[in-house]
Amino acid sequence: MKNFRTLDDVNVKGKRVLLRVDLNVPTESGRVTDATRLERVEPTITELADKGGKVILLAHFGRPKGRDPKQSLKPVSEALSQVIKRPVAFADDCIGEPAQKAIAAMKDGDVLCLENTRFHQGEEKNDPAFVAELAKLGDIWVNDAFSAAHRAHASTEGLGHKLPAYAGRTMQAELDALNKALEAPNKPVIAIIGGAKVSTKIDLLENLVTKVDALVIGGGMANTFLHAQGVPVGKSLAEKHLAPTALRILEKAELANCAIILPVDAVVAGQFAANAPSHAYGLDAIPSDGMILDVGPQSTARIHAAIDDAATLVWNGPLGAFEMTPFDRGTVVAAKHAAERTRAKKLISVAGGGDTVAALNQAGVAGDFSYVSTAGGAFLEWMEGKPLPGVEVLKAP
Ligand code: AMP
Repeated sequence: MKNFRTLDDVNVKGKRVLLRVDLNVPTESGRVTDATRLERVEPTITELADKGGKVILLAHFGRPKGRDPKQSLKPVSEALSQVIKRPVAFADDCIGEPAQKAIAAMKDGDVLCLENTRFHQGEEKNDPAFVAELAKLGDIWVNDAFSAAHRAHASTEGLGHKLPAYAGRTMQAELDALNKALEAPNKPVIAIIGGAKVSTKIDLLENLVTKVDALVIGGGMANTFLHAQGVPVGKSLAEKHLAPTALRILEKAELANCAIILPVDAVVAGQFAANAPSHAYGLDAIPSDGMILDVGPQSTARIHAAIDDAATLVWNGPLGAFEMTPFDRGTVVAAKHAAERTRAKKLISVAGGGDTVAALNQAGVAGDFSYVSTAGGAFLEWMEGKPLPGVEVLKAP
């Protein structure tokens, strides 16, 4: 199902293409430390340039308050040039004379990166005057930045009302993968949701219980559910005031016929530290001075079986404090099993969110999942079932 316009719907030859990309890469002293996002934007840039478009990159970088040389996109554009193996020119501003001059000098197939859009307040305000300044620079707008699509900013949404709008190939791949995961999935669908707190994922849990057949709840947030069910959780991270919310979610799940899979045992340590001495306990025996830092072996076996029963998996959040050994075990074992089922073509697996990507990388299986989204906030809002402004604007009227 494709209800948005893509590069298949436009001839870009000779056109000035304003291409919104995600160049918000981690850097240290001006050096890019992880080029994953640059690799993700390569296919669209290459296709547009090879088809003779003038490729004009628009992106934000960091959270500058006004113009700030430390948050210039220039070093990133240089790193990008190496990744895409073609020259990338740079303009010192994303609107006005610097941008206009640089664009006037472009030949078909050239690539130009404009300076950080967030140097202008109009970007985040989606200010019509700023949108108009940007729109002057292009003939069409292509949005390839799913990770910024939950924001209605000038370069992520506003331009789509001023210029013919299309999804780039990376955006298209992301939307196709997400569609296969929740909108039109192979059933049964299982979701694994972990992470620290329930409070950040209430909307997400409420939406998922109406969409999936089984929901595994792990990580610190599972403690809040266990507490709500009367299980003493010792000194574990738990948002006890959210017990009524947890019970409401469980009730909603029951009404929607969604099986909830909570831990049945837990790995408990006396302190929140790597290699802290730990033991697995059943839920009736969690020590009052202990902290639950991972799901236990019986829970891991149940999650294993639940993954075996599923045709589609959606995953966000680690099952334990995965940054510290040995509390990464539950997450790593589940991730490896999902990867194995995916490789065996028994499972479509989609994962997303910053910590989740880090956890899958730690397990060495990110490449084996069907799709891993590098988007943080946008992935979560999609899981919450919210319309994303930067996607909505691409939909054919
Ligand atoms: P989130 O950003 O909500 O996905 O949360 C990820 C964080 O949750 C990671 O830093 C984990 O260390 C943390 N986490 C997961 N399980 C636990 C737990 N049982 N106790 C404390 N922190 C946890």
